[in-house]
Amino acid sequence: MLVGVKRETRPGERRVAATPATVRQLAKLGLEVVIESEAGTHAGHDDAAYREAGADVVPRLGQVDVLCHVAPLTPDEAGALKPGTITVGLASPSAELQTVNALANAGATAFALELIPRISRAQSMDALSSQSLVAGYRAVLEAAIRFPRFFPLYMTAAGTVPPARVVVLGAGVAGLQAIGTAKRLGARVSAYDVRPASADEVTSLGGTFIHLDLDTIEGAGGYAREMSEDRAERQRELLAPHIAAADVLITTAAIPGRPAPLLVTTKMVAGMRAGAVVVDLAAETGGNVEGTKAGHDVVVPGIGGNVTLVGMKDAASAMAADASRLFAANVANLVELMTVEGRVVPDFEDDVVAGACLTHEGKVRHQPTEAALR
Ligand code: NAD
Repeated sequence: MLVGVKRETRPGERRVAATPATVRQLAKLGLEVVIESEAGTHAGHDDAAYREAGADVVPRLGQVDVLCHVAPLTPDEAGALKPGTITVGLASPSAELQTVNALANAGATAFALELIPRISRAQSMDALSSQSLVAGYRAVLEAAIRFPRFFPLYMTAAGTVPPARVVVLGAGVAGLQAIGTAKRLGARVSAYDVRPASADEVTSLGGTFIHLDLDTIEGAGGYAREMSEDRAERQRELLAPHIAAADVLITTAAIPGRPAPLLVTTKMVAGMRAGAVVVDLAAETGGNVEGTKAGHDVVVPGIGGNVTLVGMKDAASAMAADASRLFAANVANLVELMTVEGRVVPDFEDDVVAGACLTHEGKVRHQPTEAALR
């Protein structure tokens, strides 16, 4: 069977859905791989490396049996697929309803990596986790280069420089990675999350958990769920002094399938000191911080000077090489799970395959997306 790998075209998208290593993995399964020329340029892989790994490199992909991609397909791309094409990549089902419709109408069997069940057996295919890891790391670096002070404590002959105080809100995969990265840079880190399990995870990384006098919140599958406006307001009140004391604030809070919760208001930012930096990793999904703008720095007044709000966009693409290394492995592992004797044949009895399937045989199989389309 022919597996095609797309050159990504969405503005800002620098990742690729296959690396030479995953081309070899797919070839070993008996699959033929064809990749669009220059698809791996930003991830550090030239066409020669893909050829050496056994792929055919073509100027433009024609019809293939399995199409691997990173960013969601456009409705036109989805509409042009031949019936029965299997697609594997991100699909943003709640935001890209037109594409979902086009995939179903084309008769494609589309797998959305966002829908991979969060279970141990599927961890090697979990692109949300692999890309959140990259984003959490990157968020700290973005803060560090804008922050006009050191992160670590320095005791020098010219005097002592205190460590930066970093606060992380949302301690999921990205938040924990941010905590670990800020600790490695020498900052003093504290963090808050609504899920009860997160306190131990934060402390195990050397962070201090911020205990608020509030109920914890846990929804289905160990995820957070939306909270009442009263609780949200109370959370903001209780967090305000911690945020005012922070040099760097990194927010990563998300609720699956919902807009990001508003955790920090303009008034709270105004209470931060001059030079403070706020990095909002949720800027693309509504923002955790009032006033952030995805893809931009916004400078707002704080105490004694300005505070910089960084609206992160395409965070994983900014580290295209390692983000692609992990993403491509996620894609290849899902394809491998579905391959039997050189053929990709999805077994819908398998929870991971069934869970990740967005469209099949003209129907939208993911119930919430199907409901949104009705
Ligand atoms: P996410 O990206 O959906 O959300 C990020 C974090 O924001 C979460 O920790 C969430 O609790 C937090 N949050 C939501 N509302 C908040 C608020 N008002 N204030 C503060 N924090 C808030 O989460 P994620 O990184 O995908 O991880 C969510 C859960 O899934 C975690 O328990 C994680 O360990 C688990 N997980 C399991 C697997 C697996 O078993 N394969 C893989 C990845 C993640």
